[in-house]
Amino acid sequence: MARRRLRVAVVGGGIGGLATAIGLRGHGAEVVVHEQAAELTGQGAGIAIGANGHRMLRELGVTAALEGSAVRPARAEFRNWRTGRTMALHQLAGSYEERFGAPYWTVERAAVQQALLHELGEAQVRPGARVSAVEQSADGAVIRFADGSEAEADAVVGADGIHSAVRNGVFGPDDAVFSGTSGYRALVPMERLGHVRELAEPVLWLWLGPGRHFIAYPVADGTLLNFLAVVPDREWTVESWATEGSATELLRAFEGWHPFVTEIIRASGRPGRWALYDREPQRAWSSGRVTLLGDAAHPMLPHHGQGANQALEDAVVLARILGGADTDEVEQALRTYELARRPRTRLLQRGSRQNATCFQLPDGPEADARNIRLASLPDDLAWIHGHDALTALQPETSGSSA
Ligand code: FAD
Repeated sequence: MARRRLRVAVVGGGIGGLATAIGLRGHGAEVVVHEQAAELTGQGAGIAIGANGHRMLRELGVTAALEGSAVRPARAEFRNWRTGRTMALHQLAGSYEERFGAPYWTVERAAVQQALLHELGEAQVRPGARVSAVEQSADGAVIRFADGSEAEADAVVGADGIHSAVRNGVFGPDDAVFSGTSGYRALVPMERLGHVRELAEPVLWLWLGPGRHFIAYPVADGTLLNFLAVVPDREWTVESWATEGSATELLRAFEGWHPFVTEIIRASGRPGRWALYDREPQRAWSSGRVTLLGDAAHPMLPHHGQGANQALEDAVVLARILGGADTDEVEQALRTYELARRPRTRLLQRGSRQNATCFQLPDGPEADARNIRLASLPDDLAWIHGHDALTALQPETSGSSA
């Protein structure tokens, strides 16, 4: 008798969910992505795709679609908040690419989401499908939607982001850990920034100062500048991608900073603002036929720039392990996936917290010591960017290739 194709329901059509669906389909599974938004128009500002994430996009066949809009910054440059003195400078276009075997890209989140959606095909996404609960039995799972409808699957992947309904349903309410900081982000048209001479070159800028930091890089073929400004604020606690902040307040928070920073903020209109939370690493991601992926599994602060990259690594690894499984092998496959991915993402969750402190040291001996350490950054971060999530899989867990 012919083996039935595995039916997988992916909850969430963000970068992690769409990548998972492409990967699973490539390994022979039947996949539907259930997305709460009425349409995937692509929201968000910029994201960085390191060599480790780029390798996963290549595996999924979507790098060509992004070549035109992704920017390859020439270098990463760390500057002093007030004087503008360069504290460290690392080539990104040349030696990074040679060392880690893939480029470093800065790109709009929306562009990545659209490229993945295009590769998957809209027919495999159910928009307007807000999942409210997942139930399971020995031989299958049922997803319940807010509109009262249901869907059945052999396996369910919760790729539904930081506020994951799947995670809450399976493991109970989480304990969000507030960092006491807010992130402001915006995409600023470069034509408004012609007077900021440093922006003539594509650079990943990191401006570090006491209690605050400011990261900026070009996206959209260099037509937009993305920035992320992190400031302390214990009062603002809204963890949402849709909330707006005030450029005037942001400017006040960066008073006394170098004109590079203040000029960009001045040109930013109404930046998005979100309170920065993470969670303690989960002890488990899978229960029976249900697992978690991306931000749903390991929400992290943005200070390693690894949120999307880790979701892509999860997606390709899960697809490799689960895609070829039989319906009665699902639980074992999900456990294998989780064991393969949890240690690395846990380190990144912790490392992202530590970077926040390190980026925001007051001027003085500790900041001076940090500035010396910045010189060895390419070596210190090699475990992140040099990682190939597929070759890291043990042969016995990697299953067959697409
Ligand atoms: P997400 O990208 O958060 O995707 C989760 C998806 O699940 C979303 O499409 C959401 O609508 C859907 N979903 C949630 N709950 C349900 C439910 N109950 N039923 C069905 N679907 C559900 N990161 C940055 O670094 N910079 C940004 O500017 C930025 N902007 C963002 C804007 C938005 C609107 C979102 C959702 C995320 C943004 N992120 C941004 C986060 C970044 O995309 C993620 O950290 C990273 O890509 C990992 O993605 P993910 O697929 O795990 O989760």
